[in-house]
Amino acid sequence: MSTASINGWCLTSSSSSSTSFSRLRRPALQPSVTASFNSSHSPPSLIQDRPVFAAPIPLLAPRDDLGDKSYEEAVEALKKLLREKGELKAEAAAKVDKITASLNATLSVDGKPDASVERLKEGFVYFKQEKYEKKPALYAELAKGQTPKYMIVACSDSRVCPSHVLDIQPGEAFVVRNVANMVPAYDQTKYAGIGSAVEYAVLHLKVQEIVVIGHSACGGIKGLMSFPYDGTTSTDFIEDWVKIGMPAKTKVLAGHGSEPLGAQCAHCEKEAVNVSLGNLLSYPFVRDGLVKKTLAIKGGYYDFVNGTFELWSLEFQLSNPLSVKDVATILHWKLY
Ligand SMILES: [Zn+2]
Repeated sequence: MSTASINGWCLTSSSSSSTSFSRLRRPALQPSVTASFNSSHSPPSLIQDRPVFAAPIPLLAPRDDLGDKSYEEAVEALKKLLREKGELKAEAAAKVDKITASLNATLSVDGKPDASVERLKEGFVYFKQEKYEKKPALYAELAKGQTPKYMIVACSDSRVCPSHVLDIQPGEAFVVRNVANMVPAYDQTKYAGIGSAVEYAVLHLKVQEIVVIGHSACGGIKGLMSFPYDGTTSTDFIEDWVKIGMPAKTKVLAGHGSEPLGAQCAHCEKEAVNVSLGNLLSYPFVRDGLVKKTLAIKGGYYDFVNGTFELWSLEFQLSNPLSVKDVATILHWKLY
């Protein structure tokens, strides 16, 4: 019997409140075992009896005080001790606590707590205890599938997560986030990433609304407004990507060319949303949904400097498969 393992950790919830683990009020941690093979069975020729990959450096420092015993072996030994020596229960429980605490203390290679890993662990523990375990019906339903009402396109900016800003719950929105919340025109080779997301949301999830949300102080839009686009480039991807919003830049420069860059960017942050809404019309299944009234598209703008949110809807008069006859704003509200 041999066991292959990697330097990873598996979070498991300690469900029994009667064990000493529960005093920690957090899930127990245990080393993850990725694969194991019984030597009596020959593995298929393409599957090797060793780790499928090895981390370049240890993610977790070995714990000397645990010796060669695995977590499971140590706990089993203590359980055995508990069974055989009832009077030693308190002592054994203390040992279990010590082992659990040592396993919970994630260390980096230099022996110091890895704050980054700790933050992620604590984040999941909080989510698991305060949300996942408190809404079992919701998560049981989501385990069967998803039927989100919205597809949301938002910026990758760390300050504008739509789940937080709009209190979107799990299962409510199919979300795509990218630099400057852009939706490019239909292009099967250049933009398959967002194209597949729109296709999946509209044709398979049958979302009712696509909402493209821009935001204040968007770095991507500032780039769009600042890049010279004179044949020189200073980025590998960004200039070409945000160029999707070029019609918005052109419109802003035409109407607000004398204003400072900051004001131009604020205009462009909203105009670029409208460019994306227009680009959505180039997706046949989006057009089909709009014509059949099974789908609506809306623009949104989150101003995190002033704490406001705007939402607007554009009505497109579709004259033929590839042209838009008229565009009218049919809804616009702003929350302060
Ligand atoms: Zn942004």
